Amino acid sequence: MSNNVPSTSLVCFIVCDGGPAAHFAAFATNLFHQNELQIIIYATGPALTKLKDSHLPNDIQLLSFSIENFDHEQQEQVATQLIDNCLKQGTRTIIVDIGNKFDRIFQAVSSKRNIPNDIIHFWCYYDNPEPYVPGGYSIKTEETIKSSQYILFANINLAKSNSIIYSLPEKRIDLTNKIVEGIGYYPVIEVEKLLQQREIEKDSLRAHYGWTNIQHLFVYFGGNNDTYFDQAFPTFLSNLSHIDKNIVQDVLFLLHQHPAAKKQNRDGLLFQECLSKNNHIQGIISTLRTSDQAQIVADAALYYQTSMAPQFVLLGLPTMQVGHETYHDVLVKFNLCYTATNATELVVGLTQMKERSELSDKTQQRKELIYNAIGYTPDWPNNLHLGDNFDERIVKFGDEDPNEDHDHPGQSVTQHCRSYVFTIGTRTKLRLIDTPGMGDTRGPDQDDLNMQHILSFINNLSHLNAICILLKPNESRLNFVFRSYFSQLTDFLGENIRNNIIFCFTNTRATFFTPGNTAPLLKETLANLPIKHIPFNKSNTFCFDNESFRYLIAIQNGINFDDFQKEEYQESWINSVTESNRLLTHICGPLKTYPYIEWKSINHAQFQINQISRPILETIRNLFRNLILYEEKSSTLFIRLYPIVVLHSSTMCTKCKRMMKNYNEFWIYLDDPHTFSDKCLNCRCSRRRHIDVRYKLDYELSDNANRQFIDEMKSTLYQVKQTILEFRDFFVATSRTLKTNDPFLSLLNQMIEEENQICELKTNNSLNLILYKNLNQFKEEYEQIQNVSIPNKNSINLNKIYKLIQQISRIDIIEKQIDVIKQYHQTYMNEQEKEVS
Ligand SMILES: [Zn+2]
Ligand SMILES: [Zn+2]
Repeated sequence: MSNNVPSTSLVCFIVCDGGPAAHFAAFATNLFHQNELQIIIYATGPALTKLKDSHLPNDIQLLSFSIENFDHEQQEQVATQLIDNCLKQGTRTIIVDIGNKFDRIFQAVSSKRNIPNDIIHFWCYYDNPEPYVPGGYSIKTEETIKSSQYILFANINLAKSNSIIYSLPEKRIDLTNKIVEGIGYYPVIEVEKLLQQREIEKDSLRAHYGWTNIQHLFVYFGGNNDTYFDQAFPTFLSNLSHIDKNIVQDVLFLLHQHPAAKKQNRDGLLFQECLSKNNHIQGIISTLRTSDQAQIVADAALYYQTSMAPQFVLLGLPTMQVGHETYHDVLVKFNLCYTATNATELVVGLTQMKERSELSDKTQQRKELIYNAIGYTPDWPNNLHLGDNFDERIVKFGDEDPNEDHDHPGQSVTQHCRSYVFTIGTRTKLRLIDTPGMGDTRGPDQDDLNMQHILSFINNLSHLNAICILLKPNESRLNFVFRSYFSQLTDFLGENIRNNIIFCFTNTRATFFTPGNTAPLLKETLANLPIKHIPFNKSNTFCFDNESFRYLIAIQNGINFDDFQKEEYQESWINSVTESNRLLTHICGPLKTYPYIEWKSINHAQFQINQISRPILETIRNLFRNLILYEEKSSTLFIRLYPIVVLHSSTMCTKCKRMMKNYNEFWIYLDDPHTFSDKCLNCRCSRRRHIDVRYKLDYELSDNANRQFIDEMKSTLYQVKQTILEFRDFFVATSRTLKTNDPFLSLLNQMIEEENQICELKTNNSLNLILYKNLNQFKEEYEQIQNVSIPNKNSINLNKIYKLIQQISRIDIIEKQIDVIKQYHQTYMNEQEKEVS
């Protein structure tokens, strides 16, 4: 295939409503940065205001259009003009929001124009996370969808093949023969910003409006549809006027209207009427500029229906859905809010919202629940394939795979390890693990990360059959990177892996199915490796050609070839099939499996110790704590560790403040994992502030007056300390750059820093102060090793190290932590596995 991608590929967004406008701003910004596409956004009304405020990159054009007070025919003319403009500019993709009357007109006009799909794709965008939205959105959605071919969902769950969306509670919207995609987007970043703003701006904003003495400021987030005006809001007001005065006397109700509802002011009038009849209710119509501001000042949120609702819960706001009937949105379905359709329920809800402190311990758990429910995926930018219909046809094979990033040439295509399981015959399963490649354009650091990732991925396997090294036949050089990682891999797996290495050459049609010039170069590289005698001969070398594969895919997609081309591809296909069979026979036949227990090497041992460094140090710290409790207070109420599994992208931010909790006079910083994909979803600190975590710890107190228990703690502490010192010996002897490679030292420093902070922040800190001293003393002891003994590589007894690892891993609480780490890796591996039939 040729590489002549046109220099500009234009994507246009057309938007009327504020909600989708905010989403489009995020998409446009991401698309622009990912692909440097040319992007134009046409906006009107509330969408225009929103976009002007949203700091788009300068190269994205924001143009306005007007439909205000236009009748149907005039709006059709506007739509026609917009389409003409887009065509003239060479647009390939148009994305329009869905819930506005104009959207339907636009799609109808575009569908009448009969513009072929390979010229422009017209997408309509469903921004709401719910499959059904009362009050008209869903009805307009159905009308818009009728005349459009491509539907894009924010909630990725709604784009699944078995998902259903509705126009009315019982009436499905027909999606047959539509092309449906999901992005997995929700304005989570906005929520994070709001969280920070609540911390910083809440008081001053409240002071500005004179609400400093208000004990409870409850914001009602208004809607803009007949169901809301005629039923939901009046029912809420009537219930409110019927409840006991004592319940509402210390609450100020702020009605924050939907921006489009202000003009007619239907809910405003109802609200004022209610207030004038009920002097005991305090209420104001909000003059806050944005719904963001309303969320900053609120102590709690009330609503009937809004796509912002998940946001309230993510912000930690106590939330109640109020109306004439319950609307089964995400919050109701997952029991994340109070609901009130009558006065009694309203009393219960208001009372509980007044009592409930925000930001309870369960924030993280709630967050994961909501992310699932609203179909949010942290790596949603990978799902924006909207600029893909270039002149050159990109033929997609198989399902969209977010793991393969074809948009950044030069960066390793596979981002993470994935395993593909093939079933061969009835008894054999072949697992093929695809790893990130080496020599990534992002630099050696990325290569290092990739390598660490590969190692931790294969570390969970019981055995390996073969390691395939993929090469091209005419590599002019096997660069330094290749050499260094090749040796790292073999170093890690031990010398005996040599017999399981095989070489696969791709693109070999031009070299008549031979390794070409790469062969002599590879021989030379292998000869210079520390491990000798890696075989490289006909029996462990296989030559393929991808052209034939591409040919099959291309034919399926209706691309034509002439007879000569066909013959060539057919021949190369036959060759590749023969080689594949030979490869399988080789793996299942003469190759002996390489079991995990044989993976003994210095690197592997280092890696193992690395994996258990946190369990060991957490155990030491906690033993210190408990012995201090016993010695200083004669307390037998001890602190116990409870390791808990976390998601794969979990990290700990070293900069962000964490909660502290007191356990029998010990202050402990609680683990608060942050989810990190491209950036942190919980804070704005940089990647280097975030440390990957494999589990989090909970703590509990338990009583144990048994004398033997105390002796056991002492002897365990001694054993663990001795073992770490042995490991230190081993690290000193084996690592050239010890300062960065020693996993214990950095973690120990981090723990000392934590205790230091606790002592500074808390006044009742006597126990933490002793702990701080103990840790420091241990660190000194640890660091001295370097000066005392100067072992060398030859004096290393690798068997002894493995035995120590085994022994220490059997100590109960360390074992528990290791088990959780294993679960973490296992879950990840399962997630990355795909059955291929
Ligand atoms: Zn942070
Ligand atoms: Zn963070």
